[in-house]
Amino acid sequence: MLSALDKYVIIHQRTFMIAENVKKILRELPPGVELEAAAKGHTPEEIEEAIRAGIKIIGENYLQEASEAKEKISLPAKWHFIGHLQKNKVKKVVQIFDMIETIDSYDLAIEVNKRAKNIGKIMPVLIEINSGKEPQKAGIMPEETIDLIKKIGPLKNIKILGLMTMGPWLDNPEELRPYFALTRRLFEEITALNIPNVEMRYLSMGMSDSYHIAIEEGANLIRIGTKIFGPRKR
Ligand SMILES: *Cc1c(COP(=O)(O)O)cnc(C)c1O
Repeated sequence: MLSALDKYVIIHQRTFMIAENVKKILRELPPGVELEAAAKGHTPEEIEEAIRAGIKIIGENYLQEASEAKEKISLPAKWHFIGHLQKNKVKKVVQIFDMIETIDSYDLAIEVNKRAKNIGKIMPVLIEINSGKEPQKAGIMPEETIDLIKKIGPLKNIKILGLMTMGPWLDNPEELRPYFALTRRLFEEITALNIPNVEMRYLSMGMSDSYHIAIEEGANLIRIGTKIFGPRKR
């Protein structure tokens, strides 16, 4: 059995490790690339440690977990929703998050727009691209993206600020390169179209195993969980 002191030492080693991880990644990032800590399954204390070490954006997949963490954390950070967004969660998600990275349908955008309008907010969003064109996966198909963005653009309480993609699950991160490249080409194509109320500022792609490749392919927002917090506990 662990003594109280053992537990104290373990907790502090873990938070020390988080701070070291954050600082190391930040040191090595090229200018213009922002680091988002993907916090699913981690405690408010661990998230707070990451913020203290220099994290400015927290990514959360789960509404409940995020609202509990936000209540306990007083340090400033931007909170991004990066999970699958169900319609019945939109109201609360619009209230507590600074950005939603996973808009992939007009229906969902309509709901976000409505809920944002009710509270007088203009909700920043990214459009999630299904860059692997996998039928069961979240995200809009690449070839349908421009039409979707043109439809969402006129919604007054939504502001499109870029694209996000996950890419397929592959063992070798190098194999993700074509999916990142495809998303980047789309990003550039949409930028060139100058669609009203659409600003292509963020290209969110790359996780712990793939962020170097994502940056080479143009990502300027990377979402890292494991390499900051260690393995997930839930
Ligand atoms: C969990 C998660 C990440 C981070 O994944 P790691 O491999 O732990 O770095 C990034 N983006 C999304 C959408 C996630 O759900």
